[in-house]
Amino acid sequence: PQMSIDIVSIFPEYLAGLQLSLIGKAVDRGQLSLGVHDLRDFTFDRHNTVDDSPYGGGAGMVMKAEPWALALEHILAERGSAAVGEGADGARTAGPAAGGKPTLIVPSPAGQVFDQRIAEDLAARDHLVFACGRYEGIDQRVIDWAGEHFDLLPMSIGDYVLNGGEVASMVMIEAVSRLIPGVIGNPESLTEESHEDGLLEYPIYTKPASWRGRKVPEILLSGNHAAIARWRRDRRLERTADVRPDLLEKLDDLSKDDLAALE
Ligand code: SAM
Repeated sequence: PQMSIDIVSIFPEYLAGLQLSLIGKAVDRGQLSLGVHDLRDFTFDRHNTVDDSPYGGGAGMVMKAEPWALALEHILAERGSAAVGEGADGARTAGPAAGGKPTLIVPSPAGQVFDQRIAEDLAARDHLVFACGRYEGIDQRVIDWAGEHFDLLPMSIGDYVLNGGEVASMVMIEAVSRLIPGVIGNPESLTEESHEDGLLEYPIYTKPASWRGRKVPEILLSGNHAAIARWRRDRRLERTADVRPDLLEKLDDLSKDDLAALE
């Protein structure tokens, strides 16, 4: 496969949706290898405990370090990474796997905010691991420990709080996997999208040409490709200025025609 993705969660059933649609097809075609791991498989007490009360007091529970370390070590060993684990003679082996350390993404509202640029960066990597926290999050020590074996990326999907990292991981996996060459049938559909070049997408229409009295913009029926391209770019500029002026401010290569459209 072009990429391996491992996900650790106490709700592995949550991730079942990844078997559907384009990601499922990429797995079936062997382009993507997907491993979902139940954190509770790495606990050995009768109640499969993964959490405990926070040192220093406060509300909620904290995920214990050891099950996370065992789960991550299992993934490293399974994927043939030499970063951690036992050598043939039982000795601890050291050093990163060939091609560098795998990437560990820890969803957290305290992480850097995920965006299309980060998705592109991650799509070029060969092994991503997602650690889905629950409760108040994961004991910091195992995060620090993991930083020695993984390229560690705490990631937020936006400025709001979810109950767990599963949905956040699915968001990131979906955004990343569609950028892996061959996963999306038509690669051109990637280049004209919102956020690819810092502008939002233009409005789109399909048949019929008149629907409940609303007509498709005339120019789209004209067959004049240059005029259509200009119209679309103008709509993208307009929409971005209207909805996301913050994105527009970051663009420094606007043409005279672009600036005219923004007047
Ligand atoms: N105590 C944490 C804090 O204040 O930063 C919030 C924990 S939240 C209730 C539980 C888990 O949901 C987090 O460990 C993280 O995995 C996930 N999560 C919540 N909001 C998220 C966001 N905006 N982006 C990514 N993951 C999020």
